[in-house]
Amino acid sequence: MAKLSDPLRPVVGDKAAKRLAGLGTGLRTVGDLLSYYPRRYETRGELTELAGLRDGEHVTVQAMIGAVSTRPMRNRRGSILEAVVTDGHGSLTLTFFGKGRQDWRERQLAPGLYGLFSGQVSTFRGKRQLAHPEYELIGGAAPDSARAAEFASELIPIYPASKDIASWQIADSVRLALASVEIDTDPLPGQIRDKYRLYGYARALTAIHRPEDMRDKSRAEQRLKWDEAFMLQVVLAQRRRVSTEYIALARPPVGGGLLAEFDRGLPFELTAGQRLAGETICADLGKSHPMHRLLQGEVGSGKTVVALRAILQVVDAAGQAALLAPTEVLAQQHHRSISQMLGPLAMAGQLGGAEHATRVALLTGSQGSAARRRALLEAASGEAGIVIGTHALLEERVQFADLGLIVIDEQHRFGVEQREALRGKAAEGRPHVLVMTATPIPRTVAMTVFGDLEVTELTELPAGRSAIATHVVPTAEKPHYLDRTWERVNEEVATGRQAYVVCPRIGGDADAEAEGRAASGAGHSAQGFADDEEIRLAEDGGFDLGDLGELGETGQPRRPALAVTDVAAELKQGPLAGLRLGVLHGRLAPDEKDQVMLAFADGHVDVLVTTTVVEVGVDVPNASMMVIMDADRFGVSQLHQLRGRVGRGGHPGLCLLVTEAPAGPSRERLDAVAATQDGFALSRLDLEQRREGDVLGAAQAGRRSSLKLLTLLRDEELIGQARQEAEQLTGADPALAGQPALAAAIDALLDAERAEFLEKA
Ligand code: ADP
Ligand code: MG
Repeated sequence: MAKLSDPLRPVVGDKAAKRLAGLGTGLRTVGDLLSYYPRRYETRGELTELAGLRDGEHVTVQAMIGAVSTRPMRNRRGSILEAVVTDGHGSLTLTFFGKGRQDWRERQLAPGLYGLFSGQVSTFRGKRQLAHPEYELIGGAAPDSARAAEFASELIPIYPASKDIASWQIADSVRLALASVEIDTDPLPGQIRDKYRLYGYARALTAIHRPEDMRDKSRAEQRLKWDEAFMLQVVLAQRRRVSTEYIALARPPVGGGLLAEFDRGLPFELTAGQRLAGETICADLGKSHPMHRLLQGEVGSGKTVVALRAILQVVDAAGQAALLAPTEVLAQQHHRSISQMLGPLAMAGQLGGAEHATRVALLTGSQGSAARRRALLEAASGEAGIVIGTHALLEERVQFADLGLIVIDEQHRFGVEQREALRGKAAEGRPHVLVMTATPIPRTVAMTVFGDLEVTELTELPAGRSAIATHVVPTAEKPHYLDRTWERVNEEVATGRQAYVVCPRIGGDADAEAEGRAASGAGHSAQGFADDEEIRLAEDGGFDLGDLGELGETGQPRRPALAVTDVAAELKQGPLAGLRLGVLHGRLAPDEKDQVMLAFADGHVDVLVTTTVVEVGVDVPNASMMVIMDADRFGVSQLHQLRGRVGRGGHPGLCLLVTEAPAGPSRERLDAVAATQDGFALSRLDLEQRREGDVLGAAQAGRRSSLKLLTLLRDEELIGQARQEAEQLTGADPALAGQPALAAAIDALLDAERAEFLEKA
């Protein structure tokens, strides 16, 4: 008998083992193979809808053979055999090239037989075809062979296949593995299995691959989802437990300091949510264990003020705070606006500085060496109570005198390991950590993705905030709407307001470079220079649904996305001639970026043509209108983020989503954005439409490999239960001494994640 950890070769043979090693992340052990679950199940006799196939897809279809014909090749020796298969409506041509005649194959592919056909879909002379598909015949309409009888009541598992190995070849190997494996341990504790009436591990693995019926399959799936949810929650519970054992310097509030002074001068009332979050954070900072808190809030809900108040509490307690921003534009803006909000409070050592004043230093990867040296010095000496920066803050030579608090803005761009890099910079114990995210996500998702953080939510917007009216501008059907759009921009500027025009691409040579970096995986390198917003853009600016690839929904090749530089030039010549246009994107030199942003903030630029560099955090209250070009190329949450830049100053906001996309899924996403301003609802939609791993992104390192069946949105209840059980178990038995099988499974999981992470890094 084989064990799950045994290599596949002796079980399935050399040839199959070699092919399986090339599947997914590489199936090498019996356990790897048995954890490679079917993508779906076919019931014998239920044919695959052939009309829905798309070019480029690797598919396995069940269909009936119709006409078969062979003809000699024209310019070479050999023959072409064509078999047309059908699902009763559509048809698909199977093409086989042979060196000689292919009589044997023609005999084999007899009309009326059913089979599974596997290959890559392509179109040739207007006909959908599979060239040289692999196939397995499963009998005739009437079960007239032994094989067909065997399959008669069976669900046929369909595996994600590759060009080297077809679905049923995987199924054959799985059958061999199931026959020879012996599973005598179960990672899921017995009392949990009993309580939730779950299959045992061995039974679940058998049933997921060879289910008797759909109910059997569902129960297997439920049990295996539990494994995924529970192990993840145990890991997170352990991490939370460990982090409460760390020591941090307590920074309780000190009366009569900067915070009190700041609160006195605040030009507005805090919202109830801001006050509540403030109290929670204030209490956290006063403890001698590090705070690990996630502050979630709708765009414009005023997270920065909450963070700044926490920062001042720490500075009052003689500590320093680091504010880590995802982009240079945002770091610069934070530096500018925080210095401004603090006024004399941030002018230590300067004329007019307040009594306990501190300093705000800015550190980015691309600033001049003199400015950089000064910032490094101010951080290391403690002169700067507040140090704001991009990834450059993570570098080793950045030192602090007494780092007490780390604030991370827009968490989804920072990984856990980056948080760790900063944590190591505290002189004594660990710093407190406050993470802010502007893409609010459902609580269960937050619990899982940021499961080692406590979650606080800001749900209300400050009073006086205007709604942002959003409309879709469908230029395919209504080209003249675009003219109207530019007229509208002119009108807005005429009333003294300002506008953004957002494009998905930079244009010029910069794109090639951005894409090159994305491809080489340098997106999260700490060396700075280029911001990573464009990299991300290159990665997901061309938002594709599923497997559409370079083809639009109509099957037409897509034109390249509109570029900032092109659009700016056209607008300047034509519809926006006479307005003061500015151009902003991540490839500008940092001081240029800063100048453009400043000019826009000060009202010297009417219209800012820009990439998504303005997506997060940029705050210009006088900007009241945004036009998003090629809006269908952005994700739902991204659009919501972007439009959050307008309607901030009490002027009603207007956002126009310009798209050439015809009615269809892309347009529906845009309609959804137009229909609601609820960021939580939109992020749900986003999560449903993207592959989960993409959404979870770098924040969860390699976790995508461990979630195969579990979906964070549809399995909320299960995740909640698993979290509770995990909390209870780790409370009673933190080291899992009584659960050796569970402990081993978790170790293996973490090892796999680490390996995957290292591969990516
Ligand atoms: P976000 O949560 O999106 O980061 P910001 O912190 O940038 O939001 O705040 C958006 C704007 O709202 C800023 O101009 C800020 O000064 C302002 N603001 C924050 N809190 C309040 C409040 N309680 N009342 C009025 N304006 C506020
Ligand atoms: Mg913000």
